[in-house]
Amino acid sequence: MTGIIKNKINLLIITAILTFAVLFLLSGCGNKVQYDMMVEGNLYLDGSPVNIYIRNDKIEKIKKVSGLSAGADKVIVAPGLIDNQVNGYKGYSFVDVGGELTSEGIHTITKAFWEAGVTSYMPTLPTNDHQVYLKNFKLLARAKADPETLGSIPGFHLEGPYVSPIDGYRGAHPLIHVREPNWDEFMELYDASEKNILQVTLAPEVKGAMEFITKCREMGIVVGLGHHNGSAAHITEAAEKGAAISTHLGNGMANTINRHINPLWPQLAEERLTASIICDGYHLQPEQIKVFYKAKGPDKIIITSDVSPLGGLTPGYYLNVIGDTLELKAEGVVVYPKQNVLSGSGKLQPQMIGYVMKVTGCDLATAIQMASTNIARLYGLKDRGEIKPGMRADLILFTMDDFQFNLKKTIVAGRTVYEQKNN
Ligand SMILES: [Zn+2]
Repeated sequence: MTGIIKNKINLLIITAILTFAVLFLLSGCGNKVQYDMMVEGNLYLDGSPVNIYIRNDKIEKIKKVSGLSAGADKVIVAPGLIDNQVNGYKGYSFVDVGGELTSEGIHTITKAFWEAGVTSYMPTLPTNDHQVYLKNFKLLARAKADPETLGSIPGFHLEGPYVSPIDGYRGAHPLIHVREPNWDEFMELYDASEKNILQVTLAPEVKGAMEFITKCREMGIVVGLGHHNGSAAHITEAAEKGAAISTHLGNGMANTINRHINPLWPQLAEERLTASIICDGYHLQPEQIKVFYKAKGPDKIIITSDVSPLGGLTPGYYLNVIGDTLELKAEGVVVYPKQNVLSGSGKLQPQMIGYVMKVTGCDLATAIQMASTNIARLYGLKDRGEIKPGMRADLILFTMDDFQFNLKKTIVAGRTVYEQKNN
């Protein structure tokens, strides 16, 4: 062989080896990429069939496919719902109504929420005694870090005690514990929570509220306006200082108000305020929900349950924190007869999705946005509230039949935590 032919053969061999090496590397060193789980369903955003691949607790890849396997063709996949206001559940209260809060109680609540389709929630502590707050914020901080809750508790919501002392506006918050904003007291609670209080709901018209809002804003704590009788001037100033949300707009108000001058109009008109709304069919009339939705738009509405600790229990009469009687009605609402006010819902967010679609005419993607995405964005929770690569694998699989939400499966941080039997 001549030298030229030898060189050509050598070149061919080297090219073949290099080509093989490149193909080997591209194929993942000979092994297929392993996923922990693959979920299939119709994507909530546009109904397109997808396969979602999950690895290391996160969404790795979303692949559009031409069809789904038998049984999965009607299933919708959406991000897990996020509730920014829950007072407890199944008889456990975050302020010890009916008994002391325990770690077991928090686990029971968390699992019950997973079984409903709520994958993240903010324990909400309404107006109460300072020592109860201290004790329970410490307990909740431990529960937040507990691997058993799978990161489902991103932080907490302090509703009160700096709310209006006036009957009607105060709602079911016990007068004995209502007080003016006190930053030193709040810092004690904030430390007890290990800096996990994400929201404080207060009345903007009470003494010291504006300074308090300014300080919260400086620390990145979301301020909600609730249980208040603030004037238009109070509400505008609070928004300027950084208040970001009207807590359960349309509730936490007196039953009878002046038709022109009341807290509702200025909050609806204030574009800086997102509105959380309780869509259980009792706290707001359908036309109120429709008007709030039109005024604020889908980016500034949050569907919240404000679920009572009595939620998930048998309908009947129960005692509240100061020994007054509350009634959980069979239709899923809690009333406080002594004050003639509502005292939280008996329903969770998933039961509100279809109702909101029905009364506003919005599509499923918008309803899910208002029950998940908007909440994650408001609190800066960048790892949840959407289906995107890199996000936590918090997913719900369900069907919608005639506006009825029917949960099939819940996945939290890549683990199946609920699966409907006989589906
Ligand atoms: Zn409230």
